[in-house]
Amino acid sequence: MSNPAIILSKDIPHANAGASTVRLIIWRRLSQLAMVGLLGQWSFYGIFRCPFLVPYISCQNCPVITCHGRLFTMFWGLWLLLPVSVLLFGRAFCGWGCPGGFVNQMLGKAAPLKLRTKNPFTRFAPFGQYLGLAVALYLYFALSQPRADVPIRVGEFFKSVALTFEHAGLLWLIRSFFVLGFLALGLIAANAWCRLACPTGGLLEALKHASLFRFYKTSKCNDCNQCLKACEMGTRPDETNCTNCGDCMSICPTNAIRFGWKKSQ
Ligand code: SF4
Ligand code: SF4
Ligand code: SF4
Repeated sequence: MSNPAIILSKDIPHANAGASTVRLIIWRRLSQLAMVGLLGQWSFYGIFRCPFLVPYISCQNCPVITCHGRLFTMFWGLWLLLPVSVLLFGRAFCGWGCPGGFVNQMLGKAAPLKLRTKNPFTRFAPFGQYLGLAVALYLYFALSQPRADVPIRVGEFFKSVALTFEHAGLLWLIRSFFVLGFLALGLIAANAWCRLACPTGGLLEALKHASLFRFYKTSKCNDCNQCLKACEMGTRPDETNCTNCGDCMSICPTNAIRFGWKKSQ
């Protein structure tokens, strides 16, 4: 597990970042680490061992009895937290809770292409998340959530993963290599999976417009894009892909960034 002090020194977005931003970054990283402890293993199962084409949502019918999803789905009330968090804070799960997002963000620190500029690609590519969501919905509803022929095996995660790949069908292999390919792409283009392809990110992105609280820009914004250059999602407050992480809170030279209630535009 990473030392919070090291995380902090790498993550301070600006030499003059306010103490409140620094505190927020520490809390965000601690929150992410706690969620990695709680949900991290389930995330790995979802990618490598879940027999369903769309992971995480058919756990009660799943033969992989060692997966944490079997335990968590006994308490569906837990999942009320996700819609409640969207209603309150939009896509904050991506910035504060998702273990996959944390891994993407850490990989993104090594990526040479940060994509923190405005151009046609960074403007339109995030809509790939909606495409990912549409594919997930098609697999679930139109193809009735196909299942790979995964051998029932207890323990020995890596041997089980190898067996899963050995016995999986073509559709399962395509979806798994697609996800792994995007994760690997994250070593070149920062946060590629979260910014461009994640179906859950697409769902949260679509729903976040109904959220009550968010980071947003006031009329003092002069489009200098300092916030965009500090943002690991390469965006600005209350724009596409903003996860309400708060990293940009103190970076604005005109003090135009606020957090609170704001009507959707
Ligand atoms: S975009 Fe997907 S993987 Fe990334 S943080 Fe959000 S839910 Fe997690
Ligand atoms: S840093 Fe402030 S002024 Fe510059 S683009 Fe962001 S919100 Fe606008
Ligand atoms: S715009 Fe600011 S609050 Fe939104 S994701 Fe980027 S750094 Fe975080």
